[in-house]
Formats: sequence, C-alpha cells, structure tokens
Amino acid sequence: MAIQVLRPSNLPELKKVLRTGAGKNFRFIAGGTDVLPQIAKDDIRDLTLIDITGINSAGFFAVKRYSGGYKAGAGVKVDDLITNKEIGLHYPVLKEAALSLASNQIRQVATIGGNLCTASPSGDVACALMALEAGCGISLPAGKKQVSILKFFTGVRKTVLGKTGLLLSVDIPQNHNKSRQLVSGFIKVGSRRSMECSVVSLAFHLQCDAKGTILRAGIAIGAVAPTIRFARSAAMYLEGKNIHEIREMEKLEFAEKVLGYASPISDLRASDWYRKEVLRNICFELFDRAGK
Ligand SMILES: Cc1cc2nc3c(=O)[nH]c(=O)nc-3n(C[C@H](O)[C@H](O)[C@H](O)COP(=O)(O)OP(=O)(O)OC[C@H]3O[C@@H](n4cnc5c(N)ncnc54)[C@H](O)[C@@H]3O)c2cc1C
Repeated sequence: MAIQVLRPSNLPELKKVLRTGAGKNFRFIAGGTDVLPQIAKDDIRDLTLIDITGINSAGFFAVKRYSGGYKAGAGVKVDDLITNKEIGLHYPVLKEAALSLASNQIRQVATIGGNLCTASPSGDVACALMALEAGCGISLPAGKKQVSILKFFTGVRKTVLGKTGLLLSVDIPQNHNKSRQLVSGFIKVGSRRSMECSVVSLAFHLQCDAKGTILRAGIAIGAVAPTIRFARSAAMYLEGKNIHEIREMEKLEFAEKVLGYASPISDLRASDWYRKEVLRNICFELFDRAGK
C-alpha cells in the first residue's frame, strides 16, 4: 500500500478526482504542516492526498479588496497576512495572530485555509478570523455557498465541510464607517514563544469612533473549549461604552462574561483551572492596549 498524490488544476477537475480517482481514504493537502506530521505519527500508508495548491480558481491564493471588505483565498499563506500592509492597518488582530503562529519557516507554507479546516481549538488565524466574524466561501458537492465562521466549526477537528467540502475563501468584513481607532490584537499564552500551540488565546477587535466609543466589538477565545468560540455577550457588553472610561468593575464583569464561554479540559499542556485563570487575566490586558 502506498500514498498517492493527485493534483487537480481547477474545481471541475477536483470534482472528477473525488468521483473517480480518490478512493475512500483521501485527504486534501495545502501547506501540509498539519497533514504531514499526522500521517507520519499515525504511520498511515494507504491514502490519497489531493493537493489543492494546483487549483487556479480566481483568487484562491490572493487577498483582494472588495466593496464589503477583504476577500482572502483559502490558499493564501499565513505569512502573506503579515506582509500585507492593508491587513496590518485594518485588522491588527489578524496580523498578530499570524505572527504568533509556529515559526517563520512554517508560516511560509501554512495556509489560512489549512488553519481553519484543521479545526483545532487552538488555531491562531482561525481565532482572529472568528473575532472579525469572517464569512467562509465553501464548495460542497451540492454547490457553492457562504457560511459565517460562527457556524463553520462543528466540533473538535470537525467543520461544516465534512469530508468532501472545500474552503475557497474567507471574507473579512469592512470596519464600521465611523471607526477611527482600533483596539485590535491577539494575546497568546503557551509554554514558549514560538513553535507552540496556544494554551489559551484571546482575539479582540474593537472599532471605536474618534472619541473612543466602541461601535462594534469582536471577541474570540481559543484553546479553552472544543472549538474556537465567539464571546458574543462579552462583545455586546462593551459596545456603546467608551474604551478610555471603562471602570474596574466593568472590566471584571467583561472578564466574567468571556469566561462564560470557556469550558476547558485538563491535558498535558495545562489544567482547566490554569486555562481559566489565564483567560481571566489576559482579558484585562485588552484594556491596557487601549491606552497605548
Ligand atoms: C511545529 C508546528 C507548529 C505549529 N504551530 C502552530 C501555531 O502556533 N498555531 C496554529 O494555529 N497552528 C500551528 N501549527 C499547525 C499548522 O501549521 C497550521 O494549522 C496551518 O495553518 C495549517 O495549514 P496547512 O496549509 O499546512 O494545512 P494542511 O496541513 O495542508 O491541512 C490541514 C487540514 O485542513 C484541510 N484543508 C486544508 N486546506 C483546505 C481547504 N481549502 N478546504 C478544505 N480542507 C482543507 C486538510 O485536508 C487537512 O485536514 C503548527 C504546526 C507545526 C507542525
């Protein structure tokens, strides 16, 4: 038994491969930084890898501006999110999350599609995209459709794509038209600074007007629940408040609301208690960022 690699060059060809050539045991591969270590670890020998990096569908490897914000193809490399100046300017949370992922070498090959589709509770780029309430353009056997990232993850390492669905693109909504100040960033706690998945992460994207009133808030947490979670009630609690005038009691209440979305497990990397304590503490860091 062997591992065969197929490389369709467009979506119709991919569909044909799925119908005829792939067999039962197949997986898509993009950068391979998740797939290849898994194959090696589980000593898998009978597998078809469908390499999707040959797909020349429009925009699959590009970040483009459009009327609703920015569209990033699923094949865009994590490193491209760091070097793209407009992403850094309008969505610091995404740039910081990308910067915190693994190492420079891995970021050159890892894709944003891979980070979402592997559906790890600790996916860094996925967590930032959750805070931004991105949309996901997907292709299923029944046709193409758009799904909110809030509905994309269905369980640990499970997504709405099932086995045969393909993520095509991610739509990052435009910031509020009155947004003049951003408090946007990604806080990641792990046992070391690089080459390490997070033990706890917090992605935040607060869009404020010129005086500091929070017009729109996005808060997402990683590695503390079976899937990355959007902390809606915590985000809504901040909306309408002035970021520079939030009182200590309100910060505490915000942190409690965020914690309400956490249901961490204890594992080799950290206990559930530790993850919750860390999450509570990093919630306060968000307000320190507002002063800078
Ligand atoms: C040493 C090391 C350190 C790491 N550190 C981090 C870290 O700090 N933070 C972090 O978030 N991740 C980390 N990772 C995980 C990994 O690098 C990222 O998740 C990366 O973004 C995966 O992208 P990829 O293109 O390599 O995915 P692949 O390995 O190619 O694919 C991952 C999964 O997604 C599926 N897939 C890929 N693209 C699509 C698509 N368009 N449609 C449908 N399914 C698709 C594949 O079938 C596979 O199941 C690390 C990995 C390693 C090896």
